[in-house]
Amino acid sequence: MIPDPLPWHDAQRARLERSIAAGAIPHALLLRGPGGNGESHFASRSAAAVLCLEQTRGSPPCGECDSCVLCASGGHPDRIDVGVREERREIVIDQIREIIHLTNLTPRIGRRKVVLIDPAERVNHHAANTLLKTLEEPPGETVFILVSTNAALLPATVRSRCQMIDFPTPAPAMALEWLEKTLVHEHSKYDAADLLEIAHGAPFGALALVAEEQIDLRRELAIEVDALLAGEDPLKIAAAWKVKGLDRVSWWIGDILAVRLRESALEGRVRSQLLPLVDQCLEIRRRVMGRGNPNEQLAIERLAITIATAGRAA
Ligand SMILES: [Zn+2]
Repeated sequence: MIPDPLPWHDAQRARLERSIAAGAIPHALLLRGPGGNGESHFASRSAAAVLCLEQTRGSPPCGECDSCVLCASGGHPDRIDVGVREERREIVIDQIREIIHLTNLTPRIGRRKVVLIDPAERVNHHAANTLLKTLEEPPGETVFILVSTNAALLPATVRSRCQMIDFPTPAPAMALEWLEKTLVHEHSKYDAADLLEIAHGAPFGALALVAEEQIDLRRELAIEVDALLAGEDPLKIAAAWKVKGLDRVSWWIGDILAVRLRESALEGRVRSQLLPLVDQCLEIRRRVMGRGNPNEQLAIERLAITIATAGRAA
């Protein structure tokens, strides 16, 4: 399926369509945003637009040409997708070599090929170095589309070779209207405004909460944080958190604490002890997502113990 245009992507879409119409598509685009704003959705639509054979007929993708039909079926031979393979944490050099090989072959359908790298910040150091030259002068009319929710992790040498398109969080009313419609369409039981609040206004972030049952996980974690503050054994809670995984636990605990602190529902001394934890959770999350490798058990136990200690300060 070619993704529908999203209302909060109007400016970004107009910019890309202008370059396509002028026959001046950049060699490499870097779509960057905080995540959850439909960055990958836009990338997929842009790939179809770049590959569309009827680009002179209004705004691509036309949805009807041979290329668009193939994009819609998910099997376009000139669209090359690169992501993190299941058993890995990074995009590795072999994957980049394979792309370079494929981009050197003649396109099968039209004049162009598109390479989609998502999440681009996971391209490791060696792979990034190998990619550089091709990114600067792609063979034929290949267009690279990189998507990153943490573009700062990308080497400056990669960033400087790309034209950036930013994806800020949409206006709240627009996000709410879109999410409400989407949830109704999916017969979802969740409330759009609640989800958006938890997802900090990011519409796709809100949808992911539903899709991955994250909302239920967050609810459980919030109950466990309260239990810790009320004197529950931190090691018992830590054992439960280990099952949930450091990645998700650190993300949600940071979020839950930030909301609690904002709501001022906590007493002064408890606040002062919990405040640094919000940043610590962010830091743990960065290390988990990046290439650092925190000791999972230790990090989880520390989190639980710090919250329990703060509870005792009340
Ligand atoms: Zn088309």
